[in-house]
Amino acid sequence: MKDEGSERFTGGPHTIYSFTNSFVVECPHCGQRAEVSKRTSSGHHEFHCYACHRAIAHRPLYKLSVHQYCPECGYRVTSSQQKVKQKTSFVRLKCPACLQTSKFTPTYEDLAPVKTQSAETEPYFGTTLWLQTSFGADILWAYNYEHLQHLKEYIQAKLRQRQTLTYSPMVERLPSFIKSAKNRTALLASIEKLTLKK
Ligand SMILES: [Zn+2]
Ligand SMILES: [Zn+2]
Repeated sequence: MKDEGSERFTGGPHTIYSFTNSFVVECPHCGQRAEVSKRTSSGHHEFHCYACHRAIAHRPLYKLSVHQYCPECGYRVTSSQQKVKQKTSFVRLKCPACLQTSKFTPTYEDLAPVKTQSAETEPYFGTTLWLQTSFGADILWAYNYEHLQHLKEYIQAKLRQRQTLTYSPMVERLPSFIKSAKNRTALLASIEKLTLKK
């Protein structure tokens, strides 16, 4: 499988989402390599640093919205709060028309962490991806080692010009600097460096 087979890039069923079960990240406490991974039991992502074992205090944030009629007077009450840490089934709000406080059922939207311009982050805790390096004006990044390997195989296959690329949703969405022929050797060197990053 490794000799001939590894020279062909078949794309496979990968989408970028098939790599989001685990993220290799930089621990915001100690700067060492840490992990954000999805627990199969709960379906939630958790942060774990194997170096310092400290947790991250903040959870994913939500935007809370209420658009509901006041049960007392029928006034249409609207309210929204940014950066809510926990979902609850109801919130108590004071109607601005009749001034009665009632229970309202909110809706929630996921709030993506703010992206800094210089670094790629994962969407669950907003920590910085470990596997990233600047490449000219762009950033070469991968969520995890499997993702990095996938990029490497893609570039190697292109370099050898042997294969017919089958459709892969992930490859379709790759930035042009990764697809560009003149970058291939330099990209492979950068990927190698990232693989060895400690
Ligand atoms: Zn740490
Ligand atoms: Zn009211």
